[in-house]
Amino acid sequence: MKQDFDIAVVGGGLAGLALSIQCVDAGYQTILFEKETYPFHKVCGEYISNESLPFLEKIGVPISSWGLSNINELKISAPNGNAYQFSLPLGGFGVSRYKLDEYLYRIALSKGVTVMTGTKVHDIIFKKDGFEIKTDEGVYYSKLAAGSFGKRSNLDIHMSRPFAKAKPNALNNFIGVKYHIRYLHPINQIALHNFNNGYCGIEAIENGDCCLCYLTTAENLKKSGNSIPSLEQNILWKNPLLKDIFRNAEFIYKKPFTISQVSFEKKSQIEDHLLCVGDAAGMITPLCGNGMSMALHGSKIAFQNIDYYFKNQQDRAVLESDYEQQWKKQFANRIFAGRTLQRLFGNEHMTNYFLQFMQNFPALSSKLINATHGKPF
Ligand SMILES: Cc1cc2nc3c(=O)[nH]c(=O)nc-3n(C[C@H](O)[C@H](O)[C@H](O)COP(=O)(O)OP(=O)(O)OC[C@H]3O[C@@H](n4cnc5c(N)ncnc54)[C@H](O)[C@@H]3O)c2cc1C
Repeated sequence: MKQDFDIAVVGGGLAGLALSIQCVDAGYQTILFEKETYPFHKVCGEYISNESLPFLEKIGVPISSWGLSNINELKISAPNGNAYQFSLPLGGFGVSRYKLDEYLYRIALSKGVTVMTGTKVHDIIFKKDGFEIKTDEGVYYSKLAAGSFGKRSNLDIHMSRPFAKAKPNALNNFIGVKYHIRYLHPINQIALHNFNNGYCGIEAIENGDCCLCYLTTAENLKKSGNSIPSLEQNILWKNPLLKDIFRNAEFIYKKPFTISQVSFEKKSQIEDHLLCVGDAAGMITPLCGNGMSMALHGSKIAFQNIDYYFKNQQDRAVLESDYEQQWKKQFANRIFAGRTLQRLFGNEHMTNYFLQFMQNFPALSSKLINATHGKPF
């Protein structure tokens, strides 16, 4: 089979863009496929934990010079509006995906990654010693392939991944909604406001704007006649802090960005020899605010294994098992902690009780926050 590229990366979010930049930097012929065209908006809370700061700067994103706010405080409110404050041990910053993904895309292009935008991949077929990548634009060949196609893609269904076939349950069938707004919000704070069966985050991003993003069950939307405005007025506004935001903020876009069928079920890191990275390998609940850091860190782990494979002519099976092991070692406990924490939020009594308890034991709250985060990488 002809192999025009050393590595094909499918999906150009943070994981895919960061992986392709590292690969091309190391001299590998790299192709990246993204079905959308940059810049574009994505449903995401847009808070990045500082654990990613050194890595982002290393791959060429001058975050420190973007004048972003330094977020070091977490405010959490229960569905009745009772609010509690915690300090964030590592902290973070807010930046829109519109800006960050576009910037990474420009770096990838300038370094020589072949970036195929507006190109949807339909199939990734492993054949003996390489991959055949089928797209609208034609077929491409590579020695290795990485799947960084995010939370849920046509490829998950096509590959019959078990999480994509699972019936609705407590870990799947969530929806996400995002707005950019203008609202008076403390620039050093990320707030997480709970409501019945969901939570909504707000923090400052670039240009003095704020990102307002919530996750809730598809059931909540159904109960509201599948209408987002009804969902917000009937359910989110019961939290007085959210009501204030929705009534007094200036909404920058007329309509929100939405996604459905978000799942936190377990996923495999290797799918028919494809190295899965970012959300495609496993997704942490957004209340932890570090899915993006996991996607970036995952790309670093994938790159190190890919580099070792090529330099040492390693066996493909060893590459796959090493990658899977290292991924699990770095992220499995974090994902478990996130899943457990999510169960404590969204119910008024439980959330209030839990938050009061945490407020009384600040050392424990720091421990819990640390359990869902990693160290700078
Ligand atoms: C409601 C919500 C709020 C969140 N808030 C935060 C937060 O505040 N902080 C945080 O750190 N994390 C947050 N996350 C998680 C974060 O958004 C993800 O973990 C992160 O985007 C994962 O990056 P990724 O590169 O794996 O996937 P993505 O960024 O989703 O990128 C995947 C890309 O693959 C492309 N693609 C898919 N299929 C194909 C195909 N067949 N062919 C070509 N391209 C394809 C898509 O268009 C997309 O651009 C949140 C998630 C949700 C749902």
